[in-house]
Amino acid sequence: MSNAFEEAQQQLRRALAVYPVSEGLRVRLAHPEREVTVSIPVQMDDGSLRVFEGYRVQYSSLRGPYKGGIRYHPDADINEVRALAFWMTFKCAVAGIPMGGGKGGVTVNPKTLSTGEIERLTRGFVQKLAPILGPQRDVPGPDVGTNAVVLGIIADEYSKIVGKPTPAVATGKPIHEGGSEGRAAATGAGGMYTLMALLPHLTKKKPRDMSVAIQGFGNVGSFLARYLAKEGFNVIALSDSRGGIYSDKGLDSDAAEKHKRENGVLEGFSGTKNITNEELLELPCDIVVPAALENAITKKNAKKIRAGIVLEMANGPTSTEADDVLFKKGIQVIPDVLANGGGVIVSTYEWEQNLKGEHWSEKEVLKKLRILLTRESKNVYDRSKKLKTDLRRAAFALALERLDAALSKKYSNI
Ligand code: NAD
Repeated sequence: MSNAFEEAQQQLRRALAVYPVSEGLRVRLAHPEREVTVSIPVQMDDGSLRVFEGYRVQYSSLRGPYKGGIRYHPDADINEVRALAFWMTFKCAVAGIPMGGGKGGVTVNPKTLSTGEIERLTRGFVQKLAPILGPQRDVPGPDVGTNAVVLGIIADEYSKIVGKPTPAVATGKPIHEGGSEGRAAATGAGGMYTLMALLPHLTKKKPRDMSVAIQGFGNVGSFLARYLAKEGFNVIALSDSRGGIYSDKGLDSDAAEKHKRENGVLEGFSGTKNITNEELLELPCDIVVPAALENAITKKNAKKIRAGIVLEMANGPTSTEADDVLFKKGIQVIPDVLANGGGVIVSTYEWEQNLKGEHWSEKEVLKKLRILLTRESKNVYDRSKKLKTDLRRAAFALALERLDAALSKKYSNI
């Protein structure tokens, strides 16, 4: 059982110490509004029947419909999904988008399932969740282990259940099924925009003089590597769940991706040395990027981190104890609720396009994303100066201010 939710609540308590809010909001943020656990029977290809457990946590609807990805992972449990739903609430508020916070998950290793089994599992999950989903109620998106195909199936199954095409019920769909241009790249691109907006405040160095190590070479990590390289940063290390690669001279992430596609692993990529995931985080570099799962940086390894900046692209990669160690070492942490907001922001653009029957170009989408994240990064930085605190507490404070405003608008008697 993960303790991610306890970590998330700890972050909230620390933010409340520098930015106190009404009791009405504090009490609400300590508990999710609704949690649903479902059993999903799935006919397997060999004819057997297996039952999978699925979850949806609807944490807060103060600022709009619940919004958050669906994770397919063997370690997904209600506690983890609850923490992720909590972070979504803050992420949407930091971004200023009209969405609440939610998250879903199924305890499954999708790599062990055929495409047919994944489709039946996904349709079964939607059948169980349909009463609580809807474009104005709860809008799932992708997360670890799910992709555009899965999200397309979610929208299709929901549309069948309600008897009319309802693409706005899910985001991150394939383009020809109502997906948004730029959605796949959004989280990685957003990480780069956030970093570029904050960089002049954090260091005198220029991107071309800075090296980056990225843990997690999936959707988020691979796009981020590409965008950072375009800005001139030197990507020196990459990793996936099986291990990593490193070259102090820098490596070509597109070629590494090709190597992984052809060989199934990053290891053995020419001109690089194989390293472990632990070693990657401790490399001498300017920026380290956890872009895999929660709890990558803990009290145990935080003291060994040598980068000056941690760019949190995964959700909840740094424990609060590690935060304190990094702070004492003068390492700046750009928090997940700001840095990886690109995905949910473009998901919200997709929802908006579906509701209006529009289709925006990738250039338009990424321009809107850049403007929004540049503005909110500055907002977070300014708050950190005003409150004399770190960027995580400052981002939480910005979200708390917006959530408090939404609460007083909804329930003026509290
Ligand atoms: P993904 O499944 O595409 O990729 C995850 C990557 O992490 C893979 O390369 C996998 O091999 C690697 N990995 C898994 N376990 C690992 C471990 N123990 N050590 C090192 N690497 C490991 O998932 P993703 O969509 O890229 O998401 C990555 C992170 O970003 C997650 O924390 C997710 O919640 C977060 N996130 C994703 C999005 C999005 O739009 N996809 C948005 C916001 C946040």
